[in-house]
Amino acid sequence: MDWYQKLGISEKVRRLGAESEERLAEQFARIDAIAENNQLKVLAAFQKHKVSAECFSGTTGYGYNDDGRDTLEKVYASAFGGEAALVRPQITCGTHALALALSANTRPGDEILSPVGRPYDTLEEVIGIRPSRGSLAEYGVTYDEAELLADGSFDYEGIRQKINKNTRLVTIQRSRGYASRPTLSVAQIGELIAFVKKINPDIICMVDNCYGEFVEEEEPLSAGADMIVGSLIKNPGGGLAPIGGYIVGTKECVENAAVRLTSPGLGKEVGASLSVLRDFYQGFFLAPTVVAAAVKGAVFAADVFGQLGFTVRPAADEIRHDIIQAIEFGTPEGLCAFCEGIQAAAPVDSFLKPVPWDMPGYDDPVIMAAGAFVSGASIELSADGPLRKPYAAYFQGGLTYPHVKYGILSGLQKLYDASLV
Ligand SMILES: *Cc1c(COP(=O)(O)O)cnc(C)c1O
Repeated sequence: MDWYQKLGISEKVRRLGAESEERLAEQFARIDAIAENNQLKVLAAFQKHKVSAECFSGTTGYGYNDDGRDTLEKVYASAFGGEAALVRPQITCGTHALALALSANTRPGDEILSPVGRPYDTLEEVIGIRPSRGSLAEYGVTYDEAELLADGSFDYEGIRQKINKNTRLVTIQRSRGYASRPTLSVAQIGELIAFVKKINPDIICMVDNCYGEFVEEEEPLSAGADMIVGSLIKNPGGGLAPIGGYIVGTKECVENAAVRLTSPGLGKEVGASLSVLRDFYQGFFLAPTVVAAAVKGAVFAADVFGQLGFTVRPAADEIRHDIIQAIEFGTPEGLCAFCEGIQAAAPVDSFLKPVPWDMPGYDDPVIMAAGAFVSGASIELSADGPLRKPYAAYFQGGLTYPHVKYGILSGLQKLYDASLV
C-alpha cells in the first residue's frame, strides 16, 4: 500500500523529501550518535538507582515515603549531572518551575540578572518586568539584563558592569524560544557561567533548559550551572508525562525549591505522586530518541523549505542546540497553509482546521496547529506563528521521525495545493 499517496502527498512532494533526506545523511548520523549516548546515560541512571516495578506504584494523600518519587528524582539528578532533583506533577508547567526556582533562591533585596537579553515571555510577569500580581518585584527582588551583542555573542563588558553586590542569581535561557537571538550551546553557557563565577563565585547560575534537554550529549550542569529547570511536557517527558516540571542542581538550590513548592519544614517529604510515575519513568527513558526524532524533523523541515527558497532558522546544516525550527513564509496565506498541513497530519484532531485568533498578550492574531495526546505538549508535532511579517511558523516536536516527516510534507503539500510555492 502506498500510504503517502493514500494520505494525500503527491509524487513531487515526496521526491523533494527523499532528496532532502539524502543530503541530510551526515546530520542524521550525528543526531543518532547523540541519542545513542544519551540513551545509555539514562539507562545507566536507571540501573544505578535500581529502578524496580515497585517504583511505579505511586502514593496518595501526603505522599510520605514515596520511594518511586524519590528514586525518580535520583535518576534525574544522575542523568543530568546534579546533586539533587525535584521532579513533580505538582509543578504545573515550565513557567511554574522557573518561577519556583527563581523565587525560592532569592530573598528581598536580591537582584536577578539575565545576561542573554529579555527572557521568555511568561517570565516577564514572574520577575515583574511587566507589572503583575505576585511578581518577584512585589517581594523586593530587582531585575536587570544585558543584551546580547549584534552578532549574538555575550557582551562581557556590559555583563561585568551589571553585576553588583546585590546580584544573587543569573538566569540564562538556553533556547531562543520564539525570539530572533540564536540558541546557546552548552559550551557557550559554560563560558558565560565561568565568567560570572570569576567575578563572584557565590552568584547562583540558573539555566532555563526548556527545549534543550538531550539535544546535546551534555546538559548545562556539567558546564557549571547550579540548577537547570524545565517542563515535562517538553523534551524530558518523552511525550508520555501528562504534566510536570523539574529542577535539578545543587542540594542547596533544590532544597530551597522544595520548601517553597510544599512548605518550610516539609520540603521534599510530601507530594503524592498519584498515578503518574510510570509515565514519568518511561517518558524519561524514551526521551533521548524522541528528542532525536524531533531534531531530525527540524533539520528535515529546514532542508525541504530552505531548498525551495524560504528563509529558515537555523539552516539545515547548523548544529542544533534545541528542537525549534523557524520557517518564514512571507505571506499570511503561506503560514496558514503550512499550519493547516501540520494539523491535518496529527493523530488527534486531524479533522480540525486551525484559524488565526487574538491571543491574550499578543498584538497580532496567532495561528496554532497541534493535535496532541497531552494537551499543549510541544514535544509533540506542533506549529504556530503570529500573523505579522515575516509570517514565520515556529515548528517543533514530533514523537517519531516518520510522523514529523509526514507532517512537514503535509504542510508543503498544502502550499502546493494553494499554488503558494
Ligand atoms: C516553554 C518555555 C517556557 C515556559 O514553559 P511553559 O510550560 O509553557 O510554561 C519557558 N522558557 C522557555 C525557553 C520555553 O521554551
